[in-house]
Amino acid sequence: MTEDRRRLQLLQSLREQGITDERVLEAIGNVPRDTFVEGPFAAQAYADQALPIACGQTISQPYIVALMTEALKVEPHCRVLEIGTGSGYQAAVLARLARRVFTIERYATLAESAAKRFAELGLTNITQRVGDGTLGMPEFAPFDRIMVTAAAKEVPRAYLDQMAPGSILVIPIEERPGQQSLWRIVRDERGFNYEHLLPVRFVPLVEGLPGEG
Ligand code: SAH
Repeated sequence: MTEDRRRLQLLQSLREQGITDERVLEAIGNVPRDTFVEGPFAAQAYADQALPIACGQTISQPYIVALMTEALKVEPHCRVLEIGTGSGYQAAVLARLARRVFTIERYATLAESAAKRFAELGLTNITQRVGDGTLGMPEFAPFDRIMVTAAAKEVPRAYLDQMAPGSILVIPIEERPGQQSLWRIVRDERGFNYEHLLPVRFVPLVEGLPGEG
């Protein structure tokens, strides 16, 4: 099967699973997922499944990327913060929908590979940092949208503090060991409104930077 055909099949499967936002589908259709996975997994790049990346992390299943992106309701004027760059795939999808994406990763190795991919694809509206994403990115706050791609035990205060009025946060929370749910939090004039979306499975959001060995 050709790569174009695989991409079309993936989009068809996302539609069948209930993704309806045409801008989101178009963004996913325009980001080559095979660029974001390591050599041995390239053949599976368009299957709707999570895949391993370096440093023991994972690139999310396309359906979850689509669902989280749709839930975030990104508009063209938005400045979006992503926590957990990983392969860079989710940031690349967001970069096709938003004015600018800020993304932070605790592993320098992953951040460097992601940077090469962004350059290769000509994505110039992504600002990257290596650091502890539990603190958000106060130097660029406030944000119109925040997406967290690793599971926290509770919502870090920093994210709420860095949300602009009218902004939206999408975050997986590990309520109990082995039990995670995706939440959407909308900030309005009166405060923060929490909405439970669905059960998910993400790698943990880990405080601090990896040790030097
Ligand atoms: N968005 C990624 C998914 C990566 S998995 C993609 O599209 O490929 C989650 C990532 O979050 C991992 O790379 C992990 O290293 C990172 N992460 C976990 N805790 C973090 C923290 N405190 N700060 C920054 N990144 C973190």
